[in-house]
Amino acid sequence: MDVWVTRASRKTKCVYCGENLVKGEPMVKGKSWRKGGKAKKWVSYYRWHIKCWEEQALKWLENHPPAVREKSGGRKKMDLPDEARIARNKLLQRYAFITYQQRQSAKKNPIELERILKLEVFRQQVIEEIRQYGPVPTKWKVGDASPEPTPIV
Ligand SMILES: [Zn+2]
Repeated sequence: MDVWVTRASRKTKCVYCGENLVKGEPMVKGKSWRKGGKAKKWVSYYRWHIKCWEEQALKWLENHPPAVREKSGGRKKMDLPDEARIARNKLLQRYAFITYQQRQSAKKNPIELERILKLEVFRQQVIEEIRQYGPVPTKWKVGDASPEPTPIV
């Protein structure tokens, strides 16, 4: 909506308080485009007393406090100091990268077992490290994942 200040060109009503605006009285005017069906567009005009507009604006601000945006449905943020959280996030990324590499190696034909095992060492290190910064993510199947070298026939 476009909003500007002008003087009432005729007697009209304030959309906020419903009282009259007298001709020549300073007022706030708002213009808003509305989209109708298909190509139809029309314009709505709003008129306020200056005071009313101010009051309304302040109320709006009260109801829209500066962004404390909450993630909807996200996981609860862990209560970690910034540094620890950054460190933890790095480890999460590292872990994701390692497991990705392992999966890639597992897809190879022949399977890159040596590489997988090397990566597994790193993976275990990440698991150890992350314990300093909170619990090990449950998604990380810890314990059962160290690949026993399967006998190659
Ligand atoms: Zn008013």
